[in-house]
Amino acid sequence: MKRALISLALAWAVAFIVNAQILGDLDGDGKVTVADITDLISTYLEQQEAALHPQRQPRAVLLDVTFGARENELSTRNVYSADYMLELAGVPFVTTASLTDAIETGGVIVLSSEVGNSTFSEAQYDSLRRWVEAGGVLVSQAPLAVSGSSAVHTACRQLYGIEKAASGKNRYQLVWAPSHWADKELEYIDTDEERVTSLGRGKRLSGESIKTYAYTLTEDSATQVLAHYETGENAVVRRSLGRGAVYTFGFRWRDIIQRSQLNKDFEAQRSTSNAYEPSADVVPLFIRSVCAKHRKVSVWKFTIPDGYESLIIPTHDCDSRTAYDSMFYMSEYERALKLKAHYFLTVHYFRDAGYLSAFYDDVTMPKARLLLADGHTVGSHSVCHFPDFSQTDRFPMTVTTREAYAAVAHHEKDSTATGTTTGGSTWVEVVMSKQIIENDLQNQVRSFRTGHLCMNKNIPEAEQMGGYSFASCYSAGDVLSEFPFRERLGNDWSGDFNGVLQMPLHISDVISSSPINAENWMEKPAMWHAVQSKLQGNYAPAILLIHPNRSWKMEAEKMLVEMTDRNRVGLYNFEDFGDFWNFRRTVDFDFGYSAEQSLLEIRLTEPVDAVRLQHLCFAVDVESGTEPFTEIRLLDADGRVLADGTAKPLTETRWLIQF
Ligand SMILES: [Zn+2]
Repeated sequence: MKRALISLALAWAVAFIVNAQILGDLDGDGKVTVADITDLISTYLEQQEAALHPQRQPRAVLLDVTFGARENELSTRNVYSADYMLELAGVPFVTTASLTDAIETGGVIVLSSEVGNSTFSEAQYDSLRRWVEAGGVLVSQAPLAVSGSSAVHTACRQLYGIEKAASGKNRYQLVWAPSHWADKELEYIDTDEERVTSLGRGKRLSGESIKTYAYTLTEDSATQVLAHYETGENAVVRRSLGRGAVYTFGFRWRDIIQRSQLNKDFEAQRSTSNAYEPSADVVPLFIRSVCAKHRKVSVWKFTIPDGYESLIIPTHDCDSRTAYDSMFYMSEYERALKLKAHYFLTVHYFRDAGYLSAFYDDVTMPKARLLLADGHTVGSHSVCHFPDFSQTDRFPMTVTTREAYAAVAHHEKDSTATGTTTGGSTWVEVVMSKQIIENDLQNQVRSFRTGHLCMNKNIPEAEQMGGYSFASCYSAGDVLSEFPFRERLGNDWSGDFNGVLQMPLHISDVISSSPINAENWMEKPAMWHAVQSKLQGNYAPAILLIHPNRSWKMEAEKMLVEMTDRNRVGLYNFEDFGDFWNFRRTVDFDFGYSAEQSLLEIRLTEPVDAVRLQHLCFAVDVESGTEPFTEIRLLDADGRVLADGTAKPLTETRWLIQF
């Protein structure tokens, strides 16, 4: 409103001066009339209006090439995975099953699924090719309609520059070509772990890996190979056509995204803990870079809140009496830092003769209450922490009572590494553990972490019954991803979402290669810091697990904190990050800019929670040499200015915008 009034006043002044001194009267009657001035004002205001609304930039498009045929479950997995990738990339996008709409909307089109013989007609290939030549960008997987003699096959070959796609399940790595490391599309692919991306290790299912395609290129120079398989075959190719480009990957989205999230990958992780394993994130980050490369200005939802570039998110599993006895060292240190940390409690309230003592009792419970008094959040780490909890059939959804469970649930150590539990219940471990904590601590339990990071098929259903919001049951290495994702019932490809955000942990005091102890703990923070620094390169958080069972574990956390540049890396609460991540997904926006006015506008298309919005930042990628915008505005759907933004540089061509 204030801005409008100033504009109006300015318009009057300008109109008056211009009218009186230069143009004189407009209607030629020798007088400067009110009508003349009014005309000038309205012209001026129209110009102002146009200037206030810089041209909207096109959204990316997820083109559902199953054309809405969602009954095909295999395709749905690819559509979900493509959606996840674009959402992680953070660029504004729409989903459509109409090629015409996609071409009219988009600067970048991501195809959801494989391109089969009947996906596009010859005419559709032609319009796609003309669209690319005019500057469009296509990101695709597995164009299978390249081998054949019909007009459709010819058109497919012309678009992709691919003559043959040879499928196989024996390719284990993606090796990004050093000659392209400096290309914009590969800007996030800048560590050893990214430059060689893992697809599978062949240690499971008779040496199988995911299904891959190796491409034979047509004989023209427009197509370049950005990545090979370790076999030397072509895996990721870029075809330049006119002003646009076609990127083709040799595998299906579902095999790198959803497969990893379900932990059904072919043991592709190179390490499960305390290592940087970004193999599932490389393609979404590549897509973000593709959007940046082919636009003068590209805005995306940042993946870290509050103006930081990464986070350290401490979580502490209290799963022994010594942990309950010693956790105050950690808790009080964190309180002094004003850090709201997160504690997962194992409420083992009865003695299991073969396994654990009854360490959750009238002595330890008050110590747990102190965590809340220190400002921390508290979740559940199960009742019994059974090491064979991943065995679904040993842990049905039996609903029982505290007393009855204590009478039947027992764990025997036997010749297997994890022993055998009888009388176990997933319902008790997940739902009743939450009830026990909420009853005793009078808090709201929103988070679950399973013991030994065991996952079984009943856990997602139990989490849903318990009303959990967050879980942290995987190491990020194991699921090949640094970022959270939504869990599914049955941990199954076609399971519905259970409302729980799975937030894998990145670094921990469980170090199998060299267990942490009283003598060597001071060597570990540098290792955690090294992993966190790599995560920061992808603007990912570092969720830290430290069992708070020794006073020197607090010293180790302190050493890590003191290594950290806290202007760039925030100390953050686990559940706050989960809330941020869920909120980020709900925010839809578009943007426009005016280089002349050095003005960038980000427009939210739906009303959002104003409190949560304060934590969300945007990043803007620009062409090299572009001056920073002097004015950045956040608008609501009606074009009202909600806030003015500030920008700080992240790289030479990227700024972080905070409102
Ligand atoms: Zn534990």
